[in-house]
Amino acid sequence: MKDKIMEIIEKNKGLVREGFVADYIPALSKANPNNIGVSIVDLNGNIYNVGDYNEKFTIQSISKVLSLILALLDHGEEKVFNKVGYEPTDEPFNTIYKLDFNWNKPSNPMINSGAIVTTSLIKGNGDEKINRILDLIKVMTGNPNVSIDEEVYLSEKETGNRNRAMAYLLKSKGILSGDVEEILDTYFKQCSIQVTSFDLAKIGLFIAKGCPLETKGLIDNARIAAIVTAIMFTSGMYNFSGEYAVNVGIPSKSGVGGGILGVVPGNYGIGIYGPALDRYGNSSVGYGIIRDLSQHLKLNILSR
Ligand code: GLN
Repeated sequence: MKDKIMEIIEKNKGLVREGFVADYIPALSKANPNNIGVSIVDLNGNIYNVGDYNEKFTIQSISKVLSLILALLDHGEEKVFNKVGYEPTDEPFNTIYKLDFNWNKPSNPMINSGAIVTTSLIKGNGDEKINRILDLIKVMTGNPNVSIDEEVYLSEKETGNRNRAMAYLLKSKGILSGDVEEILDTYFKQCSIQVTSFDLAKIGLFIAKGCPLETKGLIDNARIAAIVTAIMFTSGMYNFSGEYAVNVGIPSKSGVGGGILGVVPGNYGIGIYGPALDRYGNSSVGYGIIRDLSQHLKLNILSR
């Protein structure tokens, strides 16, 4: 298996040159585009780590999966989806203009505006929200050292005016309640959590197992896993989610830090790292690798 993963990395390496490391958040531009990490874990406890799987990077939009889980635990499905939609969008992750139409709420929890809403719904004051996100990652990964990259956090906070604009617009429409700056601060911090491809694979396996959380929320764990997996499948790769579903067929979530989280329900968790991004903000090499892995391991959930 490791040899096959190495072969797939080798085959896709050239895709690094087709992408660019994100620089709209200045601190992200320091990443080395040639780093490639691949981790796969399965239900039987097998672990396959190849390449730069120890390299830390910021989780970015993959944290949207975690804020959705916590919002669902705290409020249940109806209340959450009263404020954010179930539907995919063909707009990019940081789209804003449709929020100005008076009947609109964010299309789904995987674009920035939707995630700002789910983050606002996490219960807790001050640092409690971010600590709950960190605690959830620690439970999912068994890694007690998960922490925030302060430099990236400050860089996001300083330059995140587009996110600020959408948050204030959502507040003016009554979709967001609470202190806008405090919500944004949690959002910037959650995006700046450092992980490795191995951490992502373990998060993926946790969801693949049906989110076996000990805390009892307003909703069954299995239902949370089903919702999160479905939303990842339809919206997790932004406005590339359709083509990705056709070619990969694995519920996934990307982040502009270069990570891809994959969930194969009842089977595998996958984590991939490659910081050069394509025009959708997805890892260019990560896409090639997970597409080939899916083919080789027959992981496409819609193929028989
Ligand atoms: N922190 C980033 C932002 O808000 C997350 C976006 C992403 O990973 N697609 O712009």
